[in-house]
Amino acid sequence: MPGIADLHVHSTVSDGTDTPSELVRAAIGAGIGTIALTDHDATTGWAEAAAAAEGTSLRVLPGLELSTQLDFASVHVLAYLVDPAHPALVAELERIRAERLDRARSMVERIARDYPLTWDDVVAQTAPGATVGRPHIADALVARGHVPDRTAAFHSILHWRGGYYRPHYAPEPVVGVRLITEAGGVAVVAHPGMPGPARVLTDERMGELVDAGLFGLEVFHRDNPPRARERLLATAARYGLVVTGSSDYHGTGKANRLGENSTDPEVVERIVAAATGSHPVGATAS
Ligand code: AMP
Ligand code: FE
Ligand code: FE
Ligand code: ZN
Repeated sequence: MPGIADLHVHSTVSDGTDTPSELVRAAIGAGIGTIALTDHDATTGWAEAAAAAEGTSLRVLPGLELSTQLDFASVHVLAYLVDPAHPALVAELERIRAERLDRARSMVERIARDYPLTWDDVVAQTAPGATVGRPHIADALVARGHVPDRTAAFHSILHWRGGYYRPHYAPEPVVGVRLITEAGGVAVVAHPGMPGPARVLTDERMGELVDAGLFGLEVFHRDNPPRARERLLATAARYGLVVTGSSDYHGTGKANRLGENSTDPEVVERIVAAATGSHPVGATAS
């Protein structure tokens, strides 16, 4: 399988700006061999990505990025090759998406007291059925001219201390990891060195996640500071977890570039071999 593996990318099914087909074409154009489509709390981009990758040089691992939370920290767990029809997983994803929608409406109501902004503005920035998040509110704020770009929105109006922030329901990480594993998938903690996850994922909690089925840690990600990476590599060695690297590409929604970090081919094969929920698509011949 030639080309590098980038196991964390987003499409318009969540907060990326490329459709799943555009994402597949962009990855092929960038010379990437394998991507994992990991939209937030959604598997609805899989079919389009599979169709676009068929007959091409690109292999696609169907995945998602599960929202979890603990002690006010948001912890994202990458789920590779889960069974997309697993009833408990389907129910949990539906619940998270519905609560994200309520939360986004509530944030917009709060913001609208101080800035001209309507729910329709947010809908206009969101693909039908997509998992709604702060990035869509950010795009609406940009369209209204209140901020220059998404990042400026996150640093001001949408910041958790910005005065308009509302949390949303998400299961605890240990519940999420267990659910992913029960659904036949492989669970890898996304950007575990970010301040929130790094604070709550103590050594003891990492041990609990391993007991729940955790398979790996996404160590090579631009948001993990160097000091955190050292600790994460030690944790991975201690528990026998795989180490991954990925871009967390969001199209034009973030500076992250496709393939800026990648995962060793041997690790990709271990992930594929460990999963029982679904199969890679596209260029699956090795
Ligand atoms: P939410 O899950 O709705 O609270 O929004 C968090 C999402 O916003 C994350 O998945 C990130 O991809 C995205 N995000 C966070 N910070 C930024 C930023 N500075 N610019 C663009 N997107 C961001
Ligand atoms: Fe995102
Ligand atoms: Fe994330
Ligand atoms: Zn992500």
